[in-house]
Amino acid sequence: MRAARMYGRRDLRVVDLPELGTPPPGWVRLRVDACGICGTDLEVYLNAPESAEPPLAGDRGPLTMGHEAVGVVVEAGDGVDLAVGQRVAVEGHLFCGECFWCRRGDYALCVSLRSTGQGADGGLAEEMLAPARICLPYADSLAADVAALAEPTSVAVRAVRRARLDGAGGKERGATVAVVGGGTIGLLVAQVARLAGAARIAVVEPVPARRALAERLGADLAVAPDQAREALADFSGGVGADVVFEAGGKPAAVRGAVEWTRKGGRTVLLGVTGGVLELELLSFLLSEKELVASLSHTYDVDFPRALRLLETGQVDGRALITDRIELDQVVTHGFDALLAEPAAHLKVLVLPNGTPPAAG
Ligand SMILES: [Zn+2]
Ligand SMILES: [Zn+2]
Repeated sequence: MRAARMYGRRDLRVVDLPELGTPPPGWVRLRVDACGICGTDLEVYLNAPESAEPPLAGDRGPLTMGHEAVGVVVEAGDGVDLAVGQRVAVEGHLFCGECFWCRRGDYALCVSLRSTGQGADGGLAEEMLAPARICLPYADSLAADVAALAEPTSVAVRAVRRARLDGAGGKERGATVAVVGGGTIGLLVAQVARLAGAARIAVVEPVPARRALAERLGADLAVAPDQAREALADFSGGVGADVVFEAGGKPAAVRGAVEWTRKGGRTVLLGVTGGVLELELLSFLLSEKELVASLSHTYDVDFPRALRLLETGQVDGRALITDRIELDQVVTHGFDALLAEPAAHLKVLVLPNGTPPAAG
């Protein structure tokens, strides 16, 4: 079986592995139809230790990357009620189900959380193993490549839930929303926020083609970062946005996101970023803003909702796919291409078994 394995910093190799064999009880073996590459994968690629060691290493040394996988069940372990041949999208979190956070339903906060592609082998491979409970069937009408957008879409679904848009704009008017960062996640947040009742949506994004796409996908305004302060003031009647989502993952953008939030409004952080945010505490207190973090998704609420939004076409996933590549091209046309020309790509999908059959 071929798989893209991370051996260390900027050292991703497509290698032959032994067949995965019969899945353990409660798990399934999938033939992978498609697996997306996302910003988190690039962070790991660039910042991994020099050689494979935890958390980069899987149970058996170097780790198979990929956490945005969809596939077909080819074998089910004992006690699994998914049929062979069932198409599923993999939510990705391997959580214990028993700790304080799991019992609250906050699975991404699990004390022993690992994810497919992060701490455990993932979906950039011809086949993968996954717990059946995080493998969600999707409609025949949904193409597998678009279904692979379920993971990033569920990130957007959770962020919009965390934003509590209902009422954020007051009783009379819907919420005014700004999304900082018009990459895959930002453009999904803009779409999901609209469905959740946002009345007016602005996207802040440096790349002109992405601003055009944001408008095509329904944003009322798309603006470059250097014009954002003035444009957003105008856009919000001078008060600032009710809710600002930070989906760009740049520390400098976080400062802007807090600044562009109106007094009493909410800033939601979901871009993955390192760094330190300096906050002027007195003005933060006097503005009574909320700063909310939103981490990934849950398999039982966010992920199924994301799949339904893609199935019904309420969220346009296809518009975000710029590249479909083979597994052997994952470094040249995937990771390295995204690093060399980030503005030229949005979602890059790897199709490890060739083009999956069209939707039924
Ligand atoms: Zn992702
Ligand atoms: Zn747990």
